[in-house]
Amino acid sequence: MKILSFILLLVLQLSVLQGQVFDSYWQQHVRYEMDVDMDVKHHTYHGIQHAEYTNHSPDTLHEIYYHLYWNVFKPNSSLYWHNETRKDPDPRLKKLARLKPDQQGDYTILSLRHNGAEASYEITESIMRVKLNEPLLPGQTHRFDMEYEVKIPKLIRRSGYDNAEGVDFSMAQWYPKIAEYRPDGWHADPFLGREFFGVWGDFDVKIHIDKNYVLGGTGYLQNAEQIWEKKDGQWKLKPCRKKKRTWHFVAPRVHDFSWAADPDYVRESIFAEGKELNFYYLPVGKNPQNWKKLQEYTANTLKFYQQLIGPYPYRQYSVIQAGDGGMEYAMCTFITGNRKLSSLVGVMMHEFAHSWFQFVLATDETRHPWLDEGFTTFISTMAQKVLYDKKLNLKNYWTSLIETYLGYVSKEEPEPMSLFSDSYLSHAAYWVNAYDKGGAFLIHLMNIAGFKTTMDFLRNYYRTWKFKHPEPEDVLRVAEKTTGMELDWFYNEWVESTHQVDYKLEKVEKSDKGTRITLRKIGGMPVPVDVLVVTKDADYTLYHVPYFRTLRSRSEANFGSADKFKVLKPWYDGFPLYQFEISVPPEKLKTVIIDPWFYTLDIHPDNNLWPADKKNKP
Ligand SMILES: [Zn+2]
Repeated sequence: MKILSFILLLVLQLSVLQGQVFDSYWQQHVRYEMDVDMDVKHHTYHGIQHAEYTNHSPDTLHEIYYHLYWNVFKPNSSLYWHNETRKDPDPRLKKLARLKPDQQGDYTILSLRHNGAEASYEITESIMRVKLNEPLLPGQTHRFDMEYEVKIPKLIRRSGYDNAEGVDFSMAQWYPKIAEYRPDGWHADPFLGREFFGVWGDFDVKIHIDKNYVLGGTGYLQNAEQIWEKKDGQWKLKPCRKKKRTWHFVAPRVHDFSWAADPDYVRESIFAEGKELNFYYLPVGKNPQNWKKLQEYTANTLKFYQQLIGPYPYRQYSVIQAGDGGMEYAMCTFITGNRKLSSLVGVMMHEFAHSWFQFVLATDETRHPWLDEGFTTFISTMAQKVLYDKKLNLKNYWTSLIETYLGYVSKEEPEPMSLFSDSYLSHAAYWVNAYDKGGAFLIHLMNIAGFKTTMDFLRNYYRTWKFKHPEPEDVLRVAEKTTGMELDWFYNEWVESTHQVDYKLEKVEKSDKGTRITLRKIGGMPVPVDVLVVTKDADYTLYHVPYFRTLRSRSEANFGSADKFKVLKPWYDGFPLYQFEISVPPEKLKTVIIDPWFYTLDIHPDNNLWPADKKNKP
């Protein structure tokens, strides 16, 4: 009886504990009202910003921080020197040194009031610290009113005026943006060229701009009937008697707002899955026809991602020719337009996937870039193979990712994936970790738990953490709950260390039973190992050696028939060798191969093969 009540108590405590974990989640909220008056000739704007900021944290705040991103688009700025001191400086950012005064970014704060009274502030590079007139208590909402003037920089990286293809304004990271406050404190990260993080909120934005300009971006246009009309099936701007017109957007439940503007934009729109897909592009350049072909691919991509991950929660998405490559924003993307169709589609697929991984699952890009770039790369690589290349063979989907990672670690000293995005010593190390090693997190998960289970994990992750700020440990917990496995060892090895996977097919020899196969673990990182055995009469068996720390073995074959998938006893830590026997004798075997689909990113695939005379590449 005593034991029973003890267990009951334990169960009760556990459930209370779980409730507390769930209930204790909080995030800040902001409601922005912005009024922006553009001077398109001088590349400046006058801004009025009202922000109602709610402190949902249990802490009393005495200051708040704003990002003023464009302040570092100057010669001799922290952005310039951060780039100069990388091993492989980005040539684009080197151009900062040559910016003339009228090409440099700058914010002038004309007035800042906190709850109606003038507030003091200090600006250092891209960060403004505001001293609060009165403490902001837990649960309170305070008001910040700002009037300011901005010099928009010439586009050097991501945003600014006059991009290389002649788009007038690419307005991203453009407004004074309140930094995020989390259980681990302020995230007032200076802008050093990487991506961003923001407070969940609602935006109401009015932009006054010369009447001939076409705007696209985040949110829903509130006065579309005053602006747009359809003539002969084409969207055209309505005539306007005044010099400027006002574009009024609202964007609920987002953590950023971006827009682009050009007088020569063509707007085309289609409906797919109940959503409006908008395309804004310049009808000149090399391949404007590609922007028409892009539309159906965008619709198919939406459908694909909704099925794989979960519903896209907004009413519109816009693909906009702007910026300097491809970059994701809330409800839209900026993409340069003069590309081959495959590149235009590929970039759209990548940036659109960020609507799920970053714009709804709002992970901190400056701290954990692999969580959004990696997951996005994994899913968009798959989309490109299925929807564009029409390749339905699962095993080849991620070859490019695997090759990039293996190529990098064969030449360079790797850095851990847990580094902040601006802490990498080289841009190349950031790229390979955020995109390829980050994407390979899910490839590894497929090897450990199976493809279907990995897809279940993505859906569970989305369902559990949408409209929040998941941290890496939250992602790991969803993975553990979905797979029923212990995965902390995997997280530690793959994310926090630079250990590599290297197994070797040590020996294939005759035994009493038939053939004895010996595997050797050489690399620092342990993984479950697949061994494919193919006989001379073209029969095959996939043997799976689980890693004991997962506590449960993979039940999916991933490829081929389920009755040819055999799970062996687990490989325990410490043992360098692992042996198993099969009934087929060696003379009847055609080939034996470890990790046939390269899903462990084994750095020496050449020693994974028997007979050892073939080249083994992903
Ligand atoms: Zn990306």
